[in-house]
Amino acid sequence: GLQLYDPVRRNSRGYDLGEPGVPEALIAAIAEARDAGAVAAPIVGGRERRGKGEPVHNPATGVVIGRVVEADAAAVEEAVAAARKAQGDWSLAGGAFRAERLERAADLIEERDALFLGLAMDEAGKTLVDAVAEVREAVDFLRYYAAQARADFSWPVTLPGPTGERNELILEGKGIFACISPWNFPLAIFLGQVSAALAAGNAVLAKPAEQTPLIAHAAVETLLEAGVPGDILHYLPGRGETVGAALTGHDDVIGVAFTGSTEVARAINRSLAMREGPIATLIAETGGANAMIVDSTALPEQVARDAVASAFQSAGQRCSALRLLCVQDDVADAMIAMVAGAMAELNVGDPAILATDVGPIIDEEAQSNIAAYVEEARAAGRLIAEAARTKLPAGGTFVAPAMIRLDHVTDLKREIFGPVLHVATWKGGELDALIDAINASGYGLTLGVHTRIDSVAAHVAARAQVGNVYVNRNQIGAIVGSQPFGGRGLSGTGPKAGGPNYLRRFAEEKSISTDI
Ligand code: GLU
Repeated sequence: GLQLYDPVRRNSRGYDLGEPGVPEALIAAIAEARDAGAVAAPIVGGRERRGKGEPVHNPATGVVIGRVVEADAAAVEEAVAAARKAQGDWSLAGGAFRAERLERAADLIEERDALFLGLAMDEAGKTLVDAVAEVREAVDFLRYYAAQARADFSWPVTLPGPTGERNELILEGKGIFACISPWNFPLAIFLGQVSAALAAGNAVLAKPAEQTPLIAHAAVETLLEAGVPGDILHYLPGRGETVGAALTGHDDVIGVAFTGSTEVARAINRSLAMREGPIATLIAETGGANAMIVDSTALPEQVARDAVASAFQSAGQRCSALRLLCVQDDVADAMIAMVAGAMAELNVGDPAILATDVGPIIDEEAQSNIAAYVEEARAAGRLIAEAARTKLPAGGTFVAPAMIRLDHVTDLKREIFGPVLHVATWKGGELDALIDAINASGYGLTLGVHTRIDSVAAHVAARAQVGNVYVNRNQIGAIVGSQPFGGRGLSGTGPKAGGPNYLRRFAEEKSISTDI
């Protein structure tokens, strides 16, 4: 039945970077594991389709760190044909068979974590802290979905019925899934989608984000080495307009797991709707306009710490990140001054340096869009803080954390995917109007609440139309198995990643009734 907890599985241990010597040892291991000649070529039917490819850049330095070869139409067709043939047996092999392979992959990733940490830093501009969390989360997804495959996909569930018949319910793979993943969690979300689809008994066509093909390539190699059949898992890097469109327009693709923008999720939905053949499943995790509500009883130091972490860790490049700080008006001046003070302490720069808090923006296009947005706010006299402890390094795609004043919460019109925090105030007695205004954005991903009054926290949590509520803490970094993650409305379709209901969306149910 539904496994709400799993007493056997443990989350990955990760590293305590506060322990003397640990970061230094990790950085040395990362340097050792670095492969200057990495090539992310398509892997179809277990075979790599080599080519010259295009350069992949480190966003912090602009240095070329490897090459990517885009999958062509023939590669997609070959992958689909192989997947179609092999998927039935993979599903019939059962949850325990598949779980063994996913668990082996989790062990291998932990063994060679230096390689993955280095790729997360070099390719996605992650700080060491973020990279450690990234690898842990990826391993957690593999083991979590493996445990569920064992529990729910290994044998039929017997259901009650009249004497003289046996009623059973079994879960099976749906067929071929396309997994289209984002650059901001290039290993964790990539492997989260892929391992869920595999665990449920599907074949997978995996398309990583254009910016981060190398780490995904290493992940697929590891899964294949761990015993996932080459005809079941295919790696198809490339652009959304070409490879993505070929996958979502293909009649044989029965489901798509997508994380990215709301706009692209809509385009995928349209593309799936236009095809002939079976009605496809879309599992989408998209953007947010995430607020934090702070009332006058909140502890200012705690608010400053949690608001700054939520808005600026990972350079604000998380779906979950805080975008809109809503402070009760009688404490607003002091609270905003304290947040600005904490912002001024942030180190922005090269993620390879341990003291860095805020690394680069993923590419030049994103950086210039965010910078233009901040300039507009400056011109309008709304930029109330812009901070970095030292001068931004030249060359990389950096943006200094910024705080922008709004007259009203409804003035935040779209998601700015970077280190930009908006602030608005609200009047005591108008809490419900505030929550309703936040709900009215149509997004529904994360919401933070800071208050010392339990009934206020409970009321906000009940009234907010979001996927994840966080009380008196930061609102990022959901933990697999503890904080199932995902939103509603413009923020996604659900079910929540790392939660008890995720795998079932990747599965078909079959009921078998037998006269005995
Ligand atoms: N799961 C991540 C978190 O809790 C966010 C995922 C995303 O940005 O898509 O911070």
